[in-house]
Amino acid sequence: MAKSNNTLCLDKFYPEKDLMITDIDQQSDKIIIQMKSTSSSCKCPKCNRITQKYHGTYTRKVQDLPILGKNVQLEICSHEYACLNDECEVISIAETFDGFLNNYSRMTERCVDFICTLALETSCEGCARVCRTLGIKTSGDTVIRLLLKRYESLPQPEVSDVIGVDDF
Ligand SMILES: [Zn+2]
Repeated sequence: MAKSNNTLCLDKFYPEKDLMITDIDQQSDKIIIQMKSTSSSCKCPKCNRITQKYHGTYTRKVQDLPILGKNVQLEICSHEYACLNDECEVISIAETFDGFLNNYSRMTERCVDFICTLALETSCEGCARVCRTLGIKTSGDTVIRLLLKRYESLPQPEVSDVIGVDDF
């Protein structure tokens, strides 16, 4: 039988390989999606070695893009792994779910992408106001922090590519 066409399958919007939705709580002003990690390994961000050594479980609260104007909060029961490389200084590794969520970030990467794009087109304060209207909780200060973090992680341009004041 053909599947009914009037339901939205939320699983499809998340990395299905490592995340499973366990419960969805629809409240008047927000939607809380409970998820759990189903991973069994992860890659160390420092030495890139794959580890399966389990270090612990904790709940990460993360903001995602809004659904029909409602704020969306993910509560992810996530794993921490320990790096197996004796020469690596990393003790515990938070999962990133294939770039869906950065280590220790409190927003999904697609949410950060949206905020950074909007901020570049408007301003940090303007961006924060538009976001709040759409159902993303943020402030001008947070927008500035997200922009700085994003551009710090980009490779630095070669010195010869930078145009100095003296060039004018
Ligand atoms: Zn490592």
